[in-house]
Amino acid sequence: MIKRLIPVAEPDLGPLEEQFVLSAVKSGWVSSIGEYIMQFEKEFALFCDTSYGVSVCNGTVALHLALKAADIGPGDEVIVPALTFVATAAAVCHAGATPVFVDCEAEIGTLDIEAVSRALTPRTKAIIPVHLYGHPVDMDPLLELARSHKLLVIEDAAEAHGALYRGRIVGGLGDMATFSFYGNKILTTGEGGMVTTKDDAIHSRLRILRDHAMDPNRRYWHPEIGYNYRMTNVQAALGVAQLQRYEEISGKRRKVLEAYRSAFAGKEEAVIINPHSDWAEPATWLICALLPEGTSAEKRDLICGKLRQQGFDSRPYFIPLHHMPPYRTFRSVAANGGKELIVSDNLAARGFNLPSSTCLSEDVVNNISSALLHAIAMLL
Ligand SMILES: *Cc1c(COP(=O)(O)O)cnc(C)c1O
Repeated sequence: MIKRLIPVAEPDLGPLEEQFVLSAVKSGWVSSIGEYIMQFEKEFALFCDTSYGVSVCNGTVALHLALKAADIGPGDEVIVPALTFVATAAAVCHAGATPVFVDCEAEIGTLDIEAVSRALTPRTKAIIPVHLYGHPVDMDPLLELARSHKLLVIEDAAEAHGALYRGRIVGGLGDMATFSFYGNKILTTGEGGMVTTKDDAIHSRLRILRDHAMDPNRRYWHPEIGYNYRMTNVQAALGVAQLQRYEEISGKRRKVLEAYRSAFAGKEEAVIINPHSDWAEPATWLICALLPEGTSAEKRDLICGKLRQQGFDSRPYFIPLHHMPPYRTFRSVAANGGKELIVSDNLAARGFNLPSSTCLSEDVVNNISSALLHAIAMLL
């Protein structure tokens, strides 16, 4: 008998999503003009306590569009954490700029401000802090550093819808922020993304570039090269429904996290679940598990293999980007100024994500947790 693997992530879609999508389809407005687009942009900006939301077709182009709207391109350096999903760095390359990788903070994995300050050169134009696995970056010192060097800050909040940094919601903390609504993110539109900003000028640049750079006052006149990065009204219908259900969805995710926390209470020597700073109220995205300091990636993979045999899927942490062929040639900078990003490497080897869907019952979480503890006892 083939047992279905319990996946790491599943979308939480219900009758409200069905109703709004159906209504979008029935209205005939299935491309990128429509009521749901305007509503989603307005309500998402409000949710992020910021002024404008510009919807786009995914989180990667959200980053690309943000960089283009800020005129970042060839010759410019953009500081990104080495420990992130590849899209953060790929978008910098798409814009023709150069990513510079920095090391991360121990345990929580967000970019290290000391490393950022060591990475600055006269070519540095922007920093992309990533609110990794739902945990916000320590924004105050980062913003202060950015301000004193006149650098742009674009939050990559793809994994952190609704996370709080010292009581302030992410998405309006920097000059711009980008979001993804991919199927495994906290809120989903299938594929989709958003750029948020408070800046009027940047907002109009984002809108023009997203829509083929057409002159707002002259139809079919394109003074520069633009993009078609629009989201559809059908996707936005999903987005409006998901946003209305944010409290419900994030509440369910928190309950899953709490079930894991109690299952591993007192077992911190074997595994740490979702470490966080006292100044952060992270969004609950994928559940993070960290094996003891010094555990190798091979050991971690063996443990995850055991979990899989028991019917539970998992994901290793992101592989730090400076190891990968297209990114190897770029500079990388640690907090001590060195090139070895040991904190990122250490965390990436020890970390993995456990099944995190809203539909998981406490019983299933308990089964996953005992299977994990058993695998650790056998293999570590
Ligand atoms: C998911 C993700 C993205 C990219 O989003 P897509 O919608 O998949 O293009 C970018 N950055 C981070 C940190 C992500 O997790």
